[in-house]
Amino acid sequence: MTRLAVLGLGHETNTFSTVPADLATYEDGGIHRGQEMVEHYATSQATFAGFLAAQDDDPDPAELVPLLAAWINPCGAVTAEAFETIVGEMVDLLRREGPFDGVLLGLHGAAVAEGVHDADAEITSRVRAVVGPDVPIGVVVDMHANVDERLVEACDVLLPYQTNPHVDPRERGIECRSRVLEIIRTGRRPGLALEMLPLVVTITRQDTAEEPMASLLARSRELEQLPGVLDVSIVEGFPYADVPQMGMSVVAAHEDGREAAAEVARTMAAEVWAAREQLQGGGLSVDEGLDRVAEHTGDEPLLVLDVGDNVGGGGPGDSTVLLAEAVRRGIDGVVVVLLDPATVAALAGREVGERVEVAVGGRSVEQEGRPVPIDAVVVGRSDGRYEEPKIAHGGLRFFDAGDMVALRTTEGVTVVLTSKLVQPITPNQLRSVALDPSSFRAIVAKGVNGPRAGYADVCGGHLVVDTPGVTRLSVEAFAYAHRRRPMYPFEPATAYPADARDS
Ligand SMILES: [Zn+2]
Repeated sequence: MTRLAVLGLGHETNTFSTVPADLATYEDGGIHRGQEMVEHYATSQATFAGFLAAQDDDPDPAELVPLLAAWINPCGAVTAEAFETIVGEMVDLLRREGPFDGVLLGLHGAAVAEGVHDADAEITSRVRAVVGPDVPIGVVVDMHANVDERLVEACDVLLPYQTNPHVDPRERGIECRSRVLEIIRTGRRPGLALEMLPLVVTITRQDTAEEPMASLLARSRELEQLPGVLDVSIVEGFPYADVPQMGMSVVAAHEDGREAAAEVARTMAAEVWAAREQLQGGGLSVDEGLDRVAEHTGDEPLLVLDVGDNVGGGGPGDSTVLLAEAVRRGIDGVVVVLLDPATVAALAGREVGERVEVAVGGRSVEQEGRPVPIDAVVVGRSDGRYEEPKIAHGGLRFFDAGDMVALRTTEGVTVVLTSKLVQPITPNQLRSVALDPSSFRAIVAKGVNGPRAGYADVCGGHLVVDTPGVTRLSVEAFAYAHRRRPMYPFEPATAYPADARDS
C-alpha cells in the first residue's frame, strides 16, 4: 500500500511585529500529533482536512499517516527554539515512521524564523533531505505566501490557495494529494516554475470576488485549459514581511517540463503586472468610517474592517482606535472584540447583569490606542470555545478564545473581551457569549478579507477603515531593509520584466 506522510508547520510572520512566535505559544493548543491531528482537522475545511479526506472514489487508496501539524496565529518571527524543536520533531517522525512513498506538507508560505528568512523553503529542504530525491513532496501554501525558488526546488507539487477569503484550503489539499499519487503511480514528474513579480498588492484589493483579482483568476483558469498545463496559480504574497521574496508571484505546473511551466507562468505574470495600478487602493479614514456607521440605518449590520489591527496579518487584536471613537461619539449598536486577558481575569466571578467599571484593550505595545474606560453591564460569558462547521476563511473548525466576557456600556456599545488571540472568522464567536450578531448596527472585525466569508450571512456590506498599526494599509509606511528594489508601488517607475523599457 502507498504510504503518505501528512505533516506541516504554519506561520504567517509579520516581521514588523515584536510579538515572537515562541514555543510556548505553539504548545498552547497549536500543535496536534497523530490522532489529535485527525480530530482537530479531519472535519474542518483546512488544508490538513484535504490531505486526510476519505478516498472513497479511489480503487487503490493510500495509507495516510498523520504525523504533526503546528499552526498558530500570525505574529512576529518564529523563535529559533520553536523552529528547531518543531521542525526537529517533524524530521524525527519522518525517519521513525517511514519509509514513505510521498509527503504531504501543509505550510503557510510566509513564515520567517530567527535567522531563516525563508522558513518554508528551509522546512521543505529538510524534509527533502530525509526522504531523498525520489519521493514526491506535495506542498499546499496560503495565498499570502511569499514564494522563492528554494521552496520550488525542494518540492514536486506546489498549490497555493486561490481564494481570499480562503475558502478552498481543503480542496487544494485533496488536489495536492491526487498530484502526489499520480507522480508515484506514473513515475512522471511535471515541471514546476515560479515567476516572481516586483509587485505588492494592497490588502484592500486582495478579495478574489472583487476586481481586479476576479478577472485575473478567471484568466488563470483559462490558461489551465491549454494542453499540458496542470496548474496556474496567482500568489498574492504577504506585504508585512521584510524579506527578499516578499511580493506577488505566479506558480505553474506543466506536463512538458520546467521551461513549459515557466512560459505559462510568465504569460500570467504579465497580465498581473498590467493590472498593477488596480491592485492598489485605499480605505476610509477613522472619521469617515464612523460617520458611515452613525448614518447606517439598514436592517443588517455593517462589517467594519479594522485594517491596522488585522489579527490575520499579525495585529495584536487589542487596538482601541475604533472603539475609543465609537464610545466618544456615543454610537450605539457597535460591537468590538478585543484581546484583554487581564481584564477578563479581573472580572472573574462577576455575573451577567452586574455593573462594572473597567478600562479595556490598548495594552500591547503594537497598537496606538490606549485602554478605554467604560461603565458597563456584563451581558454574556463563556469559556471561549466555539465552532464554525461551514466553510469560512482558512477552513478551521474549532476555536479557543479562552474565557470571554461581553460588556455593554450605558451608551449601547458592546465590547467582547477574549483571553486568547483568535481571528475574527465567524459570527459564532458573538453567539457564544449570548449576543445576536444580526442585532447590531456595526460589527468591528480585526481583519480585512478574512472576516468577509463567515460574516456574509449576517452583515449587509462592509467598510474598510485605514487604522494605524503593524498591519496598516499603506506599506510605504514601513521601513524595509531586505525587500527587493525596485518594487511597485514603492518605486513607481519599476519595470517588469526588469529589462523592459518604460512605456
Ligand atoms: Zn492568508
